[in-house]
Amino acid sequence: MYNITLIPGDGIGPEVVSAAKKIVEATGLNVNWDIVNAGADVYKKTGVLVPDEVYESIEKNKIALKGPITTPIGSGFRSINVMLRKKYNLFSNIRPVKTIPGTDSPFKNIDLIIFRENTEGLYSGIEKKHSENVAEATKIVTSAASLNIINEAFAYARKNNKKKVTVVHKANIMKLTDGLFLDCAREVSKNYPEILLDEVIVDNMCMQLVMNPSQFEVIVTTNLYGDILSDLCAGLVGGLGLVPGANIGENMAIFEAVHGSAPDIAGKNVANPTAIILSAAMMLNYLGEKEKSNLIIDAVIEVIGEGKFLTKDLGGIAHTADITNAIIGKIQTLK
Ligand code: ATP
Ligand code: MG
Repeated sequence: MYNITLIPGDGIGPEVVSAAKKIVEATGLNVNWDIVNAGADVYKKTGVLVPDEVYESIEKNKIALKGPITTPIGSGFRSINVMLRKKYNLFSNIRPVKTIPGTDSPFKNIDLIIFRENTEGLYSGIEKKHSENVAEATKIVTSAASLNIINEAFAYARKNNKKKVTVVHKANIMKLTDGLFLDCAREVSKNYPEILLDEVIVDNMCMQLVMNPSQFEVIVTTNLYGDILSDLCAGLVGGLGLVPGANIGENMAIFEAVHGSAPDIAGKNVANPTAIILSAAMMLNYLGEKEKSNLIIDAVIEVIGEGKFLTKDLGGIAHTADITNAIIGKIQTLK
């Protein structure tokens, strides 16, 4: 029996999280869901943005599946998502970007994974307004946090027989901060003589990614670049509705899709639940439930490949509930 914190979140969050919950249950995994919520909806109802029970639940269970959370302006927080990653030192933000056959994209056979530093950089939350016309943000880079994420990327590359790790930086301009990150990458790469360290400047990386994305396997980068490149890479494989993610620390993990709360389509039962469903599959893999994890992935691939139940973002007319039920049906037949 697993105790897992479930956070529905805002916007399309409740719709897609409930889909993911059903899918996990369809695999037969024995789960006790601890459902708690934070964000704009909760704030409207209670005046509290992150109720204590949310922290308590995450700290007790050490594992959570989370929908996107909106942080209202003026609520005292910059971003709840960023705060949780920092508070629990979930230093690895891991985002696999893989072509699912049947989705419409000019690119085929993309199979890369982004390791994004998750606790510092320009998202350290240190911003100052000096006067009406002058504002400042502080970018923090430490070797401890850089080594954490870079080690993760190389360990993943070795374990999965990848030949190359691409470190994305702007050390030619940000000589001290990105320079330190790059130095850490060079340091770590010495322990992995069989893996090539590929150093690419972030602007060039954007061009390379849209011209020839299949040249990349494992990408490791700082917080802001990782955020931006994730959405870019999502665009390469058919959009934000498809790309899952994990925030992993020493002994705690929060799984969530790359996308945000998508207020433009919220409450309409049209959001694509695939990203959070694949995040749930990553969660099962993390728990050591590899078979059930693969069952979910296989079912998703088959349903999308068949093309009968595609949501609007994938060019179809299916509702969130339709694709969810199709995936559940597929899990039953594959089991
Ligand atoms: P955030 O700041 O929280 O990252 P964002 O501004 O990046 O949010 P998203 O909420 O991620 O925005 O949405 C960007 C676009 O992608 C929107 O048009 C949204 O409708 C679309 N989108 C995001 N997630 C999905 C999904 N699961 N299914 C379909 N469309 C989605
Ligand atoms: Mg975004």
